[in-house]
Amino acid sequence: MVYTIKEVVSYLEKLAPPAYQESYDNAQLITGNSNDNVKGILCTLDATEEVIDEAINLGCNLIVAHHPIVFKGLKSLTGRNYVERTIIKAIKNDIAIYAIHTNLDHVAIGVNKRISDKIGLVNTSILSPKKNLLSKLTTFAPQKDAEEVSNALFAAGAGNIGEYSDCSFMVEGKGTFTPSPKANPKIGQKGIAHIEHETRIEVIVPSHLERKIIAALKEAHPYEEVAYYFQKIENENQDVGAGMVGELPRKMDERDFLEMLKSNMNLQVIKHTKLNSKQVKKVAVCGGAGIFLLPDAKRSGAEIFITSDIKYHEFFDAENQIVICDIGHYESEIYTKELLLELLSQKFTNIALYLTKVVTNPITYL
Ligand SMILES: [Zn+2]
Repeated sequence: MVYTIKEVVSYLEKLAPPAYQESYDNAQLITGNSNDNVKGILCTLDATEEVIDEAINLGCNLIVAHHPIVFKGLKSLTGRNYVERTIIKAIKNDIAIYAIHTNLDHVAIGVNKRISDKIGLVNTSILSPKKNLLSKLTTFAPQKDAEEVSNALFAAGAGNIGEYSDCSFMVEGKGTFTPSPKANPKIGQKGIAHIEHETRIEVIVPSHLERKIIAALKEAHPYEEVAYYFQKIENENQDVGAGMVGELPRKMDERDFLEMLKSNMNLQVIKHTKLNSKQVKKVAVCGGAGIFLLPDAKRSGAEIFITSDIKYHEFFDAENQIVICDIGHYESEIYTKELLLELLSQKFTNIALYLTKVVTNPITYL
């Protein structure tokens, strides 16, 4: 079985839809032809020149990276910096670079779940769920067809709320219509006013799936013209957002917790605020630069907040309410490459999958 780059990308994007990325981000196929067949995949946190060399040596033509090598528009490609040199090398050697960044940060199986698993957190949930990702679909079907129509909507991704699927609300009523002489009505007759006993169906849908769900609705619905409308809703999507919070199976002393964190995540150093002499039960995490989530971490009741890229003055904001830990950006996200490899191996059993051996951390410690 041969897969194209497009097939690999679309599998990953079902798990972490691009619509979930931040506005500044550039999670997408950055170089390469999506119709090329995949010869091998190299998973990495960063796609650097050294990683491109590694891909060439391994015979891989697809690099799946967490960080996009390109964030902003490039007006020239002359090789004057590492970004341009990496892109040039990738293109010259037919290496596709695909980045799966803040969209992977924001899903419940993503970067922060991996950190949570590393330190043994249970009962995990998204720390700061995102708004404006959901719509409500209202549509109307003949009563006898309502079940078939709603099942088609569920199959296309509608009606999921937390741990519940197939969620809908239905109410019965009368629908009226008069087909024109040019219409081809499956129910009713041209030029004759018709009253049909219909069911109004309401479901929640992820906004980025609206087109797919409408196609499924039209496919399953008996009418020539299907009445429906979408409404944007403000509800948070509890399954999508930044950071994660979870609980330790049992309480720990702060110092014991930090020792465990250091050992489980293979850290050389943890920069942290003053210990509060509290037992640790709840822990908030955010891979990469996550100090913007400090208010959410405090609100969640966590005793510890683990993230990276914290500035001096930001440490003061702990205010003895929480212990803030900066474990380093690379160190907080390095296990993302293993996550990517695991996700890919669940679907692509016959593609050669590799983890980069290149240490792409630009920071070293003396
Ligand atoms: Zn990062």
